[in-house]
Amino acid sequence: MSSLVTRLAPSPTGAMHLGNARTFMLTAWWAYSDGATSLLRIEDLDHPRKKPHSIESIREDLQWMGVNWDFETPIQSTRHASHLRALEALRSKGDVYVCKCTRQDVIDAQSAPHESLLDLVYPGTCRAATWDPRSHESNEGKALALRFRVPATPVSFDDRVFGPQTVDLARQSGDFVVGRIRADGEVEVGYQLAVVTDDAEDGVTHVLRGADLLLSAARQRAIQTALDLPTVTYAHFPLVVGTDGRRLAKRHGDTRLASLRDDGMTAERLWRWVASTISMPAATQAEVLSRQLNLSNIPRDPVVLTGRDLAWLCGRE
Ligand code: GLU
Repeated sequence: MSSLVTRLAPSPTGAMHLGNARTFMLTAWWAYSDGATSLLRIEDLDHPRKKPHSIESIREDLQWMGVNWDFETPIQSTRHASHLRALEALRSKGDVYVCKCTRQDVIDAQSAPHESLLDLVYPGTCRAATWDPRSHESNEGKALALRFRVPATPVSFDDRVFGPQTVDLARQSGDFVVGRIRADGEVEVGYQLAVVTDDAEDGVTHVLRGADLLLSAARQRAIQTALDLPTVTYAHFPLVVGTDGRRLAKRHGDTRLASLRDDGMTAERLWRWVASTISMPAATQAEVLSRQLNLSNIPRDPVVLTGRDLAWLCGRE
């Protein structure tokens, strides 16, 4: 195994779109050009949004794109025991507490307007609490959040695409959710902690993914520090947006990989489009992959996808 290890971490929550296809291709391209080992980890903790059959179609889509991986780790939901150990390690240091606030309580407490639920800053209402899993205090049949106490000092890291980042989590996110006590008393571990635990266990050195997770990188770095885990190098790819500057969605047309493939798109054109989005135009897929992908040369602006791009991808121009 190379000393550089990266991962493809798709979630089976729906069809593969051009945006996430591009993230996986850039990751595979970087692994190929830098001789890194890449692993596939299916992240299926997000149960309510999980779609049947999509795990198999993720593997098929990746293979169709020509995105390879060296090995596959166990599916994330089967690693519950190790996630719980990490949660217990945080709890024993006093870094996790039980929060009784509802989502509406958190929305009502916002001092600034927010664009989405992801932008909510937790105001710290329950910060004085602790969490003792042995006290059989009833949760009155309600699910309760387990929050991680963010550090008082800002978190800094160097993103290979976006450059040096300093994030004041106390101000930009507040204590965030790392788990949940379900209404039936079972404990679930959430994405932020699971991903850090898995990356450490899998020996991941480089996390390459979409820029929507840049703030999460600061959260994950804070957890790594609290658990005394090795830090990883981050590279976040700017997102693909429509001509209105908004994140790709249905209103921008059908950008699902399967639909575009039915419409004539080839993997060859997809690789060439990906290369063109980072100002490295190439005439063939082989030419793309023969080049070194230098993460620090990737432009930071979002990638605008036009109708013309879609027509070109499908061989109509
Ligand atoms: N599974 C996450 C997603 O599909 C990616 C998580 C990560 O790369 O850390 O959005």
